[in-house]
Parts: sequence; structure tokens; C-alpha cells
Amino acid sequence: MAVECVIKNAAKTVGEGPHWDDITNTLFYVDIQANSIHRFNPETGVDDKIELDDTIGFVVPARKGGLIAGVGRSLVHVDWDTKKVTKLHEVEQGLQTRFNDGKCDPKGRVWAGTMGPVDPDVKKMPMIGSLYCLDLDGSLRTVVKDVGISNGLAWTEDAKTMYYIDSTPQKVYRYDFDIATGNISNQSVIVDHAGKPLEEFGFPDGMTIDTEGKLWVACFSASKVIRYDPNTGKQLQSVNIPSAARITSCCFGGKNLDELYVTCSAHEVTEEEFQKFPLSGSVFRVTGLGVKGFKAHIYDGEIRGGSKI
Ligand code: CA
Repeated sequence: MAVECVIKNAAKTVGEGPHWDDITNTLFYVDIQANSIHRFNPETGVDDKIELDDTIGFVVPARKGGLIAGVGRSLVHVDWDTKKVTKLHEVEQGLQTRFNDGKCDPKGRVWAGTMGPVDPDVKKMPMIGSLYCLDLDGSLRTVVKDVGISNGLAWTEDAKTMYYIDSTPQKVYRYDFDIATGNISNQSVIVDHAGKPLEEFGFPDGMTIDTEGKLWVACFSASKVIRYDPNTGKQLQSVNIPSAARITSCCFGGKNLDELYVTCSAHEVTEEEFQKFPLSGSVFRVTGLGVKGFKAHIYDGEIRGGSKI
């Protein structure tokens, strides 16, 4: 196994939301407080970006063209080439929240959640976020309420199970998933970092799943990605990310989907912390893990909206 830094100090703020685009063999990721969407081509080494006018929590491609992104408290459609932004839905008016992590389910719906204003003590974040689902007809509904920091979504290959992370209570949840309706039920906790040493486990943040059905969980504040067996909750493997502590998310990429791309944050990293973790904000690639991921799902629905909830 090898860990390499592929884009040094890529994100100036929170590097997040890696999504491997298997059609173009490029990596999308966001730099949340820099209001930027990046697209990295590992073959050429070119890291393009576009800048919007508010924070960007996540980005996923849409089958009908362009991208769906969580910008501030809105879900928007973005045309990468023209930079045209069309607002689809706005949520949580009057709240100091913003969209955070988002992913597509196997049917092509977008699932994206919000989070409140950041408290330096993540465990004290107000539980005012929600998880939303953008359905194939373009409508938006609230699925989970009272969330601290909405993060880490993944679905099993048979699409019968959804995994979800709320970083504030430091838990990875499992739900029964109904692919036909997009309904979730029977929440249970499968991994719990609460009460465990922070430097060893950190806050569970972004997450992906491999073809063996095991979860790869980015551990914010712990310099690592941990592989878990979701059925037993047992830790199977831990990958240390060098010279960076605030690990935010990961996804499988590369032409064979056997490389793990890892993002991390440089946001509010102090001068002192930078001395210790000079690769904060970088994008890393882990090779030789011996496992593969699935092609990332993309939004397969209508581009329309206009609702405020
Ligand atoms: Ca995150």
C-alpha cells in the first residue's frame, strides 16, 4: 500500500466531496469556503476550478448535463463551461445553516444534508441540520431532522441498505433502504466514535463503500481513514494520511476504481498546526489497497425546482 499527495495544499479551506467521474476519468472535489468546485485530471495533472458566490458543500454530475451542487442553503444546477447557475431549491430560510455533504443513491436521486454554524467544539454543534432527498421528478423532501453535521453517505450494492454519518454525535448509522420509493427506515448505529480517544478515532466525516461491502470512513482530527465491517462494526484496517490531520472524505477512483482519493481541510488550521501538518488541504491517493469501489452514482432526474422549504 502507498499513500501519495497528488495535489499539494489543493484546498485553501475545507477540501471535500471527492467524486470520481468514470466517463472523463477526472476527480471532482470542492473547496467549501473558497466557494470553488475543482476538477482534477490525474493523467495531465491539471486541476481546474470554477468559483461561485457562496459556500459549496458537494457536487455531483447530472445525467442531463452539468452538475448539481449544494451552494449555501440552496441546491443549484451548474453549467461548468458557461458557469451558469440555476437555483433549484432553497431550504432552511432564516437559519444560519449551509449544505454540506451530498451523494447520489443507486436510483440517481441526490441525498444532501445541512449543518449549522461551526462551533470549535464539534460535539456542541446545534442539531439544526437536516438530510434532504432530491427526487427524480426534481422535487425535494426532508428525510432526517435534528442533524448536527450531515456527512458520509453510502449504499450497498443490492441497494437495500443506506449508511449515513452525523459527525456531531460521532456516529455511523445504518438504514433499511427502499430503492423504489427512496424511503429509509429502522435506523441503527453501526460505528460509534463518541467517547473514544479523539487523536485515534476523530470525528467520522465522509465515507465510501468498496465492492466487498466494507466502509471507508474519513476520520477528521485523526489523520486517517478507517475501514469498517458494517455488519460487525469492527475496524478492519486503518490508513494513515501523512502530514494532515483534518481528513474529510474519500472515494474510489482511477481507471480501475482501485485507488482511494482522500480530501482534507486547511480551514482555520493555525500556523502552529500547519507546521505539524503541512499537507493540510491536500488531495491524497492511496494505491495497493487490494480492493475496489463502485462507479459513483450520478443525478438521473429532472432539472427543475423553485421550492422553498
Ligand atoms: Ca464532510
